[in-house]
Amino acid sequence: MGFRNFFAAAADFFFPPLCLLCRAFLTAPHETYFCRPCSEALPLISGPLCPRCGMPFVSQEGADHLCSRCIGKAPAFDTARAVGIYAGAMKQAIHLFKYNSRSLLAAPLGTVLAQQGRGLLEHEHDVIMPVPLHARRIRQRGFNQSLVLARQVGKLWGVAVAAEGLERTRWTDPQTMLPERQRLRNVRDAFSCRATAVEKKSILLVDDVYTSGSTVNECAKVLKRNGARRVDVLTLARTL
Ligand SMILES: [Zn+2]
Ligand SMILES: [Zn+2]
Repeated sequence: MGFRNFFAAAADFFFPPLCLLCRAFLTAPHETYFCRPCSEALPLISGPLCPRCGMPFVSQEGADHLCSRCIGKAPAFDTARAVGIYAGAMKQAIHLFKYNSRSLLAAPLGTVLAQQGRGLLEHEHDVIMPVPLHARRIRQRGFNQSLVLARQVGKLWGVAVAAEGLERTRWTDPQTMLPERQRLRNVRDAFSCRATAVEKKSILLVDDVYTSGSTVNECAKVLKRNGARRVDVLTLARTL
């Protein structure tokens, strides 16, 4: 047993790993961060969805087809995919991550995003960019949750992360507080980027939750306007 393994085993003995959601002891070998019941309760997206924005359809039958919103107006991003539905254990885990236990949940959620996200995306990316927060919001929360997730994905995939490629130049109200039709106006022209950072690049935008899609759509618009070749979006969860 190596030195490092010895200490890892000793730490497990004195501080047995607990499920990050329900605090049950983790015993089975495949349980790393979440116990089996909690992992199984993470509502993953399966079944037919909109190939463009990733919206899952209620019916589990049938093939993928464009949703009415994407038919009405194609989004600025090429595709958007989410690992799970923003509900149940997924919502609980993201909430804990953003407001309580950043250090505990950064690696587990980033790993879930990297592992599950791999199979959801069809294209390779030159660079990963987090959806930026306004400086004032970073001061309030202490960190940008999207950057933390992007870093973990970049590390596991071996893809560069451009933390400052995209910037939020205008203060915006939290999207969740606004009715849908105001969300679009709220984030309009809120972002900017340097063309040299994005020109001809295939970019993956990472965020924690996809709500109406207007935030990532606005980011994608700016990136495309500055010469990005392709913009895909990957989030941990999306609202229905
Ligand atoms: Zn659990
Ligand atoms: Zn769609």
